[in-house]
Amino acid sequence: MDDVERTERIVVQKADKIWLDGELVDWDKANVHVLTHTLHYGLGAFEGIRCYQCEDGRSQVFRLRDHVRRLFDSAHLLMMDIPFSQEEIFEACKETLRANKQEEAYLRPLVFFGDGAMGLGSAENKVRLAIITWKWGAYLGEEALEKGIHAKVSSYMRNSPRSLFPKGKVVGHYVNSILAKREAMLAGYDEAIMLDGEGFVSEASGENIFIVRDGVVKTPGYSTGALGGITWDTVVKLLGDMNIPVEFDRFARDELYLADEVFMCGTAAEITPVRAVDERKIGEGKRGPIATKVQKAYFDLMHGKYGAREEWLDFL
Ligand code: PMP
Repeated sequence: MDDVERTERIVVQKADKIWLDGELVDWDKANVHVLTHTLHYGLGAFEGIRCYQCEDGRSQVFRLRDHVRRLFDSAHLLMMDIPFSQEEIFEACKETLRANKQEEAYLRPLVFFGDGAMGLGSAENKVRLAIITWKWGAYLGEEALEKGIHAKVSSYMRNSPRSLFPKGKVVGHYVNSILAKREAMLAGYDEAIMLDGEGFVSEASGENIFIVRDGVVKTPGYSTGALGGITWDTVVKLLGDMNIPVEFDRFARDELYLADEVFMCGTAAEITPVRAVDERKIGEGKRGPIATKVQKAYFDLMHGKYGAREEWLDFL
């Protein structure tokens, strides 16, 4: 094990500005104190959003309103009152991209408790909000999009709704995802698939999951304990546009192994096929026909050439 050192190095390319608590500040000045509450206890919420450049040269932020809404939902679950309106954050995301002159970027709004009081019972610290934007290519690599990845069923259980809020994109939840992801990578796999407390497939460390068998697509339903992925919802609707039936149901590890196709989706990972899970090849061990169609529709949509669903594109 010692000679397997697999890490992903996603180096953030510095831009000019970061939006912090209502104003654009210089990138290097967007710093916080070490007593920042969220740094100690993980109570915070964040989003991951992408901005793509379309065929006609314009840039669009994909489903920005839905992402901003989920940020506020996550904060609501944590009883953190964001001192801005959704509309203000919606505009601030676009303002940050414009200030950084980024035509394509990943956006990371982050809600956190500032410094001041310490301890688990303190809730009076200022709720702060940062929006950082940076260039980010394919999360799992270009090759992954084309050839598919090798995933491992994790030994870590997905966060349970009995103890946390899987529908919230909460900072501290990601300890669970990171442990699963690192376990998978250190064992030579690309990504982790996590089961819920009852042994049903929930999702990957940062992606929702779909399986296909005999032309029918299946995915765990919205209420089954995975994050309510915005890409997941997008894929469901794109499949609908293609008249491909989707079933919302739980499935266990055996169905995963027996699938003709498995694919994952998320803002960062986009549409990523899975060519193998654990020691089993999935289907023919390459990107399958439905994943290929979904991927094409998704990238067409992102680049303004899908010809429908334009209400999801917020142009800069
Ligand atoms: N599940 C988890 C645990 C995630 O972190 C993400 C990424 N936000 C997703 C699913 C996919 O969500 P979305 O499509 O909204 O990016």
